[in-house]
Parts: sequence; C-alpha cells; structure tokens
Amino acid sequence: MTVTVKVQVISIIEMFTLRIILVIACLLVLITDTWAISQQSQVLLYNVGYGGIVGAIGAVMNRNESSWYRAFVKGLIQGSFGGLICYEGKRMAYEINKNRELLYGWPSKIVHATGASIIENAAANNYLWESWSVHFGFVRFETKPATFPLRVKFLPFAFGGFLMATACGRLKVDKTFQLGQPYFRKSTFELPEAGGYSFGNQIIVNEDVTNVYEYIAHEYIHNYQYREGISLNKMFTHIHQEFSNYEIYNRLSEHIYIDTAFMAMAYHMEDQHSYAWKYKNYFELEAKYCSTLRNVPIPWR
Ligand SMILES: [Zn+2]
Repeated sequence: MTVTVKVQVISIIEMFTLRIILVIACLLVLITDTWAISQQSQVLLYNVGYGGIVGAIGAVMNRNESSWYRAFVKGLIQGSFGGLICYEGKRMAYEINKNRELLYGWPSKIVHATGASIIENAAANNYLWESWSVHFGFVRFETKPATFPLRVKFLPFAFGGFLMATACGRLKVDKTFQLGQPYFRKSTFELPEAGGYSFGNQIIVNEDVTNVYEYIAHEYIHNYQYREGISLNKMFTHIHQEFSNYEIYNRLSEHIYIDTAFMAMAYHMEDQHSYAWKYKNYFELEAKYCSTLRNVPIPWR
C-alpha cells in the first residue's frame, strides 16, 4: 500500500472513530446531566466514564493476540482508573483558588498528567505505567518510568494557542513558572469582558477582577480538558506503527506530537448558551465546579 493510500485510510478510520467517541462523550454528558445526581457525582462519572471508554475502545483497536473482550476489560479498568486520577487532579486545582497561591498548580498538574498518561497507556494497550507525559505550554515531555529516557516534543496546536494568547495578553514569566502553565495578563481591549480565557495550554486572566484565583483555577481545568482530548491519539497507535518503516515519519514523530484540539470540538458540540446559562455546557460546569468545589447554580432545574 502506498503512503498516500495509507494516509487516506487512516484519515477515514480516524475521523469515523473520533466521531463515535465524541458522540459517546456527548451522550455521557447528556446522561449525567439528565440524571438527578449531585454535580460531584456527575463530574466523577464523566471523568471515569471518559477514561474507561477511551481505554476500552483503544485497547481493542490496538490488541495483539489477546481476545477483544480481554483487551476491552483491561482497557476499561485501566482507563477508568486514569479518569479517576484526572478527576482528583482537577479537584486539586481548587487549592489555587482556596489559598490564593499559584504554586498549587504544580501538584494538581502532576496528578492530572498521571491520570491522562494512564488513559493514554490504556488506549494504546500498554502497561499501566509504561509511559508518562506532561505538557508545559507547547512542549510535551515524555518518559518511560522503567528507564527514564526523556523526549521533548513540539505541540503545534498549543503553539497556535500560544500565538493567539500573545496577541491578546502579556506573558508573565514569573507567574508562568509558579503556576506550571503559560500565564498571560489580559490586555485591556483585545478580548471581550470576562475573567479568564483558555487557549490550548495557555491561560489568560483579567487581573482586575476580585476573584482572579478562581478564574485561574477555572481556566486550568479547561487546559486539562484539552489534554484529555489528546489522549484519543493513542487509540491509533497500531496504525501509526505502520509508518515506522519510513525514516522521515520517525524523525518527525520524534519531535512533533499532533495535539488536535478534540475537546474544543466536543465543547462546541455541546449546546452554546447565553452567559446566564453557560453552565448548561458540561465543560463549563466542570470547570466551575472543580475551581470552587461548590454546586453551580443551575436555573434550568
Ligand atoms: Zn470556562
């Protein structure tokens, strides 16, 4: 099969599978939204469910000789566990708001990166701790806990977000390293009035608002959602291995990691609402709940 045909086949398979995943993710959101359960349970169920679904389907797609149901169960358990860790990492972002201290971003980020890595390992049908990765702005650091080789990869979509953030705000280097994510202070006129914004792995905040730390934690959760979407990449590990004979592909994939903003698509597939009803969008509700650990007022119930 020629490279061109392979690329076309991969594109078709990927888009078809990704649509299924996005529809399942939206159904999960719809179900958890419809059930009369607490917001804490809703957020927990979504995170565990998302990790489990991505892990299970990915493990089946990447299975070797094992039967599909063994791979499914392994991926489901492993991915659900990763989702649970992601949930804990998101809740830890609340400490930024509670203590009004940016340094609490790091432990939250490390825990969430661990959960996201477990989901990625599950989706690739790998061992639980086979690899670990963390994102800092438009850079992805990858390692294998068994041998600790360090790979540094460029994230093109996150870099696009970085450029957008640069156009809308001013990078604060000291706060960036305190928080663990590129931190921009909003300029006065480029963006519409709001407390904060998230562009991929970048956070922009309006420092004039009184509850600025809540907005920082809120946007951090949106960064995490973006990271979780990228875990879908690992579902197609078996297809990408087909290209391992091509040196140029190997060279590029050593230094570039395609971070398609799948969660941004899912965000926009959710209903868009007026500002008063914005938390009807699950991803907004999750960010608000995890940054405050208080129930979000929901006027539609
Ligand atoms: Zn938000």
